[in-house]
Amino acid sequence: MTKALRMSTMFLRTLREDPADADVDSAKLLQRAGYIRKAAPGIWTWLPLGLSVLNKIEAIIREEIDGIGAQEVHFPALLPREPYEATHRWEEYGDNIFRLKDRHEADYLLAPTHEEMFTLLVKDMYSSYKDLPVTLYQIQTKYRDEFRPRAGLIRGREFIMKDAYSFTVDEEGMRQAYMDERGAYERIFQRLDLKYVPVFAMSGPMGGSASEEFLAPMAIGEDTFALAPSGKAWNVEALHTPAVEDIDFSATPAATKRATPDAATIEAMVEYANANEPRTDGRDWEAADILKNVVVAVKHAEDDEHDEPWRELIVVGIPGDRTVDMKRLEAQFAPAELEEATEDDLKAHPELVRGYIGPMGVGPQADEGHLRYFIDAHVAKGSAWFTGADEQDVDYYDLVYGRDFEADGTVEAVEVRDGDMSPDGSGPLSFERGVEIGQVFQLGLKYSEALGLKVLDQNGKTVPVWMGCYGIGVSRVLACIAETHHDERGLAWPANIAPAQVHVVATGKDEAAFEAAERLVGELEALGLEVIYDDRKKVSPGVKFKDAELLGVPVIAVAGRDTVNNGTIEVRDRNGENKEAIGQDGAAQAIADRVTRLMRGE
Ligand code: ATP
Ligand code: MG
Repeated sequence: MTKALRMSTMFLRTLREDPADADVDSAKLLQRAGYIRKAAPGIWTWLPLGLSVLNKIEAIIREEIDGIGAQEVHFPALLPREPYEATHRWEEYGDNIFRLKDRHEADYLLAPTHEEMFTLLVKDMYSSYKDLPVTLYQIQTKYRDEFRPRAGLIRGREFIMKDAYSFTVDEEGMRQAYMDERGAYERIFQRLDLKYVPVFAMSGPMGGSASEEFLAPMAIGEDTFALAPSGKAWNVEALHTPAVEDIDFSATPAATKRATPDAATIEAMVEYANANEPRTDGRDWEAADILKNVVVAVKHAEDDEHDEPWRELIVVGIPGDRTVDMKRLEAQFAPAELEEATEDDLKAHPELVRGYIGPMGVGPQADEGHLRYFIDAHVAKGSAWFTGADEQDVDYYDLVYGRDFEADGTVEAVEVRDGDMSPDGSGPLSFERGVEIGQVFQLGLKYSEALGLKVLDQNGKTVPVWMGCYGIGVSRVLACIAETHHDERGLAWPANIAPAQVHVVATGKDEAAFEAAERLVGELEALGLEVIYDDRKKVSPGVKFKDAELLGVPVIAVAGRDTVNNGTIEVRDRNGENKEAIGQDGAAQAIADRVTRLMRGE
């Protein structure tokens, strides 16, 4: 039997005003209702009510993750530099990690995530395929020196994460472990009544192959995702353009070079051509008729042929009515990074005539030693273009991709727009915002190879172990639930994670009301319910009701004048609905039944 939390002694101070620097509703309400308190930017103290909700969320996560056979461990947060050095992440994380030194000047860090430690632990203890598969996890505090901590618990610098790691002898095993984890995520978010969208993602600096992010759709989210009519979703970096059909160019005239003076921009080209080179099909020239060629610098790491990091200029051809999306383009060249080409870059390549750059001076059609030329995925084979001829004031007309020029590769180079066709062909894409609440990764062999995690397989051969990693932002999830479960008066928790299921309020000066409330509280406790009891004397009913609505417990029961006069308890849901007066004798059981229904989500 859990003892009721009494408002007269509970460690709680509710606030009537929003904290000045709180930028989203969850941050405002969690502070006002006394769940958390700010310790420093992006660093939060958990108060009793907050801790209670957090523990319940963790319990649901543990149940589901244990349920797929994973085993819980717990690593330190303070870790030595060496393992992170081996995977290059000591440097790759840049300013995002907290680094520190011990008294002997040895380097340490506060872990932003634990791939290295899990990999080394399994390496330490296991050596045979017979030991696998195994999935380990922890619920633990992580540290990231986020550039801009914001939105309360949503982007903290200290936060709580559930991170799980699967170890399997082959790729098939990795896929299975991934699917199991993914299934557990769906059950967890459903039980937490948190709307989620699994979004196909590029795996970014983690390396590896398949990856999905679970986003909670909401306007305050920092991540944009593209949603297809089929319900499938992608993050913008992972979005691929459906293949475009080849165009028959048999009737397209031969390409011609023509003077196009003072037309170094798309607008100037359209204007000049409409005035001087009318189209034969009767319509006007448009930006979409132009092939725009953009010079970009790729910054590669050292490799077999280069002892040092090196910089490569490339040219990318895109439709003239679109612009390059550097992040999407960069994702195609990962782990290399992209930057805009400079004045000096262009000077070093005389074939790149500013405003008149075309595909003929680069790519397979150019001389030995040419810059590589990439074409955007929207450009169809056989399409004819108005584009630069690599000479000042001269452009090509009817230059056909696949007839007159080729590319070294097709890339996703341009921004995606509302209405673009979805990758699965189910219709036009729309864009929404969300907060990443979890992510599942097929890591492949990246960490096992970097850290030498190998086992003997069935044939006695040494093979690297296939890994997956799976994170849930536990403290962020709590904030996202608050963000999606509140109204202007306060929080409104799902019954299964609320700090209590019933908030009993005693009102008035009449001692009998307090006695009736005491009795109700005792009966609710005996029925196994968790209760917050507002037993404060000399606090007005108005203040008590406001606090009850701010705290967000799902059922509110009031003992007051009606109880004294008529023997009834007033019961209502936190949202004000289903208000009823119940006779004192049956009240506790009726409330318990109501809670059971709410727990079932009815
Ligand atoms: P984001 O893109 O939001 O910075 P991430 O992709 O870097 O997140 P992961 O490394 O995938 O995060 O971490 C796993 C989970 O931890 C995320 O899905 C998210 O829910 C949570 N998380 C990450 N960073 C933070 C943070 N600063 N504060 C709270 N939770 C976080
Ligand atoms: Mg992530």
